[in-house]
Parts: sequence; structure tokens; C-alpha cells
Amino acid sequence: MTAEEKLAGDAPLLFDSWDREHLWHPYTSTINPLPTYKVVSAKGNRLQLADGRELIDGMSSWWCACHGYNHPVLNEAVERQLKSMSHVMFGGITHEPAIELGKRLLAIAPPSMHNIFYADSGSVAVEVAMKMAVQAAVSKGGSHLKTNFATIRSGYHGDTWNAMSVCDPVTGMHGAFGSALPVRYFVPQPQSRFDGEWNPADIHPLEKLLEEKHQEIAAIILEPVVQGAGGMWFYHPEYLRQARALCDRHGVYLIFDEIATGFWRTGKRFAWEHAGVEPDIMCVGKCLTGGYMTMAAVLTTKDVADTISRGEAGVMMHGPTFMANPLACAVACASIDLLKSNDTAGTVNAMETAMKELLAPARQLACVADVRVLGSIGVVEVKEPVDVGRFQKECVDRGIWVRPFGRNVYVMPPYVTPMEDLAVLCEEMVGILRDSEK
Ligand SMILES: *Cc1c(COP(=O)(O)O)cnc(C)c1O
Repeated sequence: MTAEEKLAGDAPLLFDSWDREHLWHPYTSTINPLPTYKVVSAKGNRLQLADGRELIDGMSSWWCACHGYNHPVLNEAVERQLKSMSHVMFGGITHEPAIELGKRLLAIAPPSMHNIFYADSGSVAVEVAMKMAVQAAVSKGGSHLKTNFATIRSGYHGDTWNAMSVCDPVTGMHGAFGSALPVRYFVPQPQSRFDGEWNPADIHPLEKLLEEKHQEIAAIILEPVVQGAGGMWFYHPEYLRQARALCDRHGVYLIFDEIATGFWRTGKRFAWEHAGVEPDIMCVGKCLTGGYMTMAAVLTTKDVADTISRGEAGVMMHGPTFMANPLACAVACASIDLLKSNDTAGTVNAMETAMKELLAPARQLACVADVRVLGSIGVVEVKEPVDVGRFQKECVDRGIWVRPFGRNVYVMPPYVTPMEDLAVLCEEMVGILRDSEK
């Protein structure tokens, strides 16, 4: 009997054996799956387990549930929209929720953003952004050679084909797909810390690459300041300023993937603001709908949009079935309105100050390599990869929900998290690491 089968037998409410047999969860084995806990409802920053226990959420369901769960204002927005229409095609048709969301996005986006493409998920937004860059580069240069991409190591941009190709080649999925993936240019991850000194050597590899290969490169794609799922690393904003200058010098577009960092997660509306340099193309997603449903958007300048339209195809070559889904647009409008009316920057800054203090004791632990906090993202990097199954069982036993990845134990709690809960979350997380040393 596997550990999981035993769990399903011991706690049938919490561990569903049908689920284990038939449902794929993210990155799971069908032979030896990690336990999956059954959640029956969620409210505010709490998840209710099927056995009656309640957990303090540390993950915002992978960055997206910034207002927590079951928010009355967001519920109301979905219900109201449902009564007029849940979906209608976007080809040849438009609707108020799409227009209203577009206005709200442009009001908080980098000033040079002008055109918006709605996509179904973050990964699809990255595909669309890459297609935009290629169409614009080919249209501008008249060369079908300028179609490749460059990025930094330890990035994460999603799970679809082209998104995978720009994920970190080691921790990403390149191993499993090998020569099936397009080959991109990778330069080392900037080592200068967000809150440390800038080391000018950090930019040299990108400088050299662009000097040699700019004729082949349509765009550089970067997660500004915070590298998320690829390593939870916070790097110096000067890197972005220098990358922008290099892109301008060599006629290469700059794509910012703000899917994880957007909507105040780092303390600013979007992470580019830490550097003050704008991208040519920007992806947003995750928190866009307040975590209610899947939706993303790609924003770009009038110059890029019109360059594409002057190109061979004459149009942007993408059009998903569920483009600009009205339910998603309506809840996204409500989410942005809430974020703007709630002093979100103040809340996130208070979370940052609290987490810096609450996670500091982890620095004393022998198993810990680094502790870093930016906005409402707290990371404890440990020296050895975490045993996720064991760690999660400990979390659930202590009433918190944290899902570590690799050597990073991290939290990005919903902004509605009360300070007492934030304290419990961080203290228990550090407590698990401390007890693991005994
Ligand atoms: C999550 C994420 C994606 C992919 O988004 P999905 O909605 O999961 O497809 C892309 N880029 C970044 C930076 C992300 O964090």
C-alpha cells in the first residue's frame, strides 16, 4: 500500500481515493502521487478542509486570490454579469465588461501602453506576447531571421510550448521535452540583490549577447524584479534599466511578464515601477480577476500594435474562443476597483514590514540559506530540497497552507490576511523548519 492509499483509507473525508486514481493534479505522478487535501469552501484568508479543520492560506492559490476567497463584492460582480450574459464571442462583437476592464488596465499600466489583447491564461498571454514580438520585428525589419528570444536563467513564464522554451533550462521542463523545444538564448540570472549594491558585471552577459546576436533576437522576456516559480529571487532594478537601454540600442523589444508581480504584490501597482523603465509588451494575469477565474491580458504600445498591422499578415494572429469572457472581465473590473479603493500599497507595505520581522528568526537555522521579503512575498530558502509531502502534512497539522517548491519555502498571502494570521503563518512556517532540525 502506498502512503497515499493508506491516507485515503484512514481519512476518507480528507483524501479521496477516486481523485487519486483518476485526476491529474499539477506536476503529479499517477503511480506515486503526493496527497491532495480536499477543501470544501473558502472565505477570506481561510480554507475549510473536508474534515472540518480550517487553514490560514499562505499561497493566495498561486498568487491569484489577492482578495482572499468568497469576497462579497466580487461575488456580486459575477452574479450581476451572469444575469446579462456569461459569454459571447469577441470576433465582431464587443461588450461593456471588456471596455471597462480595458480602461481600468490602461489607467494603472505603464503610460506607453495603448493596445490590449485579452488571453485565457498566463501561459497563453506569454505565447501571445511572443507572437506579437515576432510579428512586429519581422514587419519592422523585413527579415524572417529576427524571430528568436533571450531571457535570464531561473525564470518561469508558463507551461505551454513557447512559454516553456523561455523557462529556466535546468529547473524548467527542458529536460523532459528536449529537442522538441525551440532553442532560446539564456544569460545568467542577475546576482545583485534587490536591496543590495548593484554589480555592473551583472549586465555584461546580456550586453555581449545582444551585440553578437541582435539580428536574430526579436525580444527579451523578463519577470521584472521578482523571479517567481523559477526560483523566488528578487534582483536589482538597475538590471531592468540597463536591459531597456540595450534593447533600444539594438532594436530588440522588451517584454515584461508581470503575471505574478502585478496588482501591488511587490508593493507597487506593477514591478516595472521599481525600475522606472517601461516594456514594449507586458503580460498580466493571475490576480487580474482577483483569483476568480482564468484570464490574462497582453498590453503593448501603439507603435508595436501598428507595426504588426502594417506587416505581412496585417492583423494580430491570435483569437481565442473565450477571448474577453464577460464574467472574467466583470470580476476583474470589480477586483481592480477594490484594489484601488483599499490603500493596497499601504496594506502590502505593512505586510512586508511584518514579514521581515516574523521570518528573521529563520536566519538562525542551520538548514536556512537565505531569507528575503519583498512586498507581500516572503521567502525562506533552505539548503536542501524540501520533502513537499512531509512539509505539507506538518502545515495542515499546524493550521496553515504553504506549498514549498524545490529549496524555497515561501508565502504570498491574500491582502485581506489579518496581522494575527500573518504572524501565525510565519511563526508556524519557521517552526516547522526549526523542528525539522531536531
Ligand atoms: C503563473 C505564471 C505564468 C503562467 O500563468 P498560467 O495562468 O498558470 O498559465 C506565466 N508567467 C509567470 C511569471 C507566472 O508566475
